[in-house]
Amino acid sequence: MPLPIDYHMHPQAHSIKPYTPELLAPWAKTARERGLKEIALTDHDRYHEGVDFDEIDKLREANPDLKIRAGIELDNDPETGKAGRAWVEKNWDRLDFVLGSAHYLPPDPVMFDKTDRVDEFAQKDMVAACVTYIAELEGMMDRGGIDCLSHLDLIKIHGVWHPKEGLLPHFYPLLERIRREDLAIEISTAGWRKPVGEAYPHADILKAAKQLGIPFTLASDAHSHAQLAEEYGRLAEFLTPFDIREVATYEKHRRTMILLT
Ligand SMILES: [Zn+2]
Ligand SMILES: [Zn+2]
Repeated sequence: MPLPIDYHMHPQAHSIKPYTPELLAPWAKTARERGLKEIALTDHDRYHEGVDFDEIDKLREANPDLKIRAGIELDNDPETGKAGRAWVEKNWDRLDFVLGSAHYLPPDPVMFDKTDRVDEFAQKDMVAACVTYIAELEGMMDRGGIDCLSHLDLIKIHGVWHPKEGLLPHFYPLLERIRREDLAIEISTAGWRKPVGEAYPHADILKAAKQLGIPFTLASDAHSHAQLAEEYGRLAEFLTPFDIREVATYEKHRRTMILLT
């Protein structure tokens, strides 16, 4: 049985492309072909102008066999973050699911996860960068309006940081807060296509999160419908030792756990 959900995808990819049947239909078609039962559309909040809830309703009507959730990936963009958050607040009741992400390490105005920054990050104090990164995620949580945190240990993306104590000690207090606030985290295949070559989060963090009772979504972070459920076979194998028997799904921000069979 293929893994049933993909809860992180970008129909608009990297620019504003207003939702239309032509834009969205391939996502539903590919989801069905890959055996997904449920997907959440989670474009970046900086492209919120392209999101059209009526078009999502039409996509639902055209694909009654698929559960299609309306979502957004809200981040800490110093330029657009504020407007994005205002949009999320205004549309909260039409959204099913909000991902929270940190892609920026202030005062640096450029996304830290851009793939051309590997050499630069190899020279950085990564412990300090991780402290800043986690503070940014905490800031997202302070502001609220989030159901789930995306790619939790994204700071490792460039594959240049290998602390001998592992990543878990840096993330454990954050995991405890995530548990207290009853948020979910995603398990994402996207890291396998990045220099780090690991799923998000690292196995140590995943194990600790499971022990704390944090719920998980599953995600590809697809920026093309062709990437939907990417590496889900590998993901299923990766999950086996963790004994994860259920995953989180959301409707109007209400979580329902569904069994993995
Ligand atoms: Zn992201
Ligand atoms: Zn994303």
